[in-house]
Amino acid sequence: MHDDFPAPDITPESRPFWEAAARGTFLIRRCPACGTAHFYPRSLCPICHQAETDWVESPGEGEIYTWTVMRKSPKGPFALGYLTLDEGPRVYVCFRPEDHAGLAIGKRARIVFDPVQGGARMLFATLI
Ligand SMILES: [Zn+2]
Repeated sequence: MHDDFPAPDITPESRPFWEAAARGTFLIRRCPACGTAHFYPRSLCPICHQAETDWVESPGEGEIYTWTVMRKSPKGPFALGYLTLDEGPRVYVCFRPEDHAGLAIGKRARIVFDPVQGGARMLFATLI
């Protein structure tokens, strides 16, 4: 539980993503025209501008592209970074506190959904 993290803002476009997240499923979007996977999920393909893209389930696994630990926080240190998914897109994540000592560029990690304020789920990453 991460009581100090706010719940996500849910829009009509992002609602399927957060409903899947509540079940522990990670969804990305894939463009049927150019085949590119992208994140954050949006209906307009950012590569070819196709107006309709498909929801696809992802294992949420990839390599750490970069990371940092923010130590001067009134709530204690927290780690941020980017995970490059095996499907290609990069995802901005917070890493679980128990993983901070083992973080390194290139290490494998996986998206997880942990509870935050109000019982909502937010994406974090954990080493695998
Ligand atoms: Zn496309």
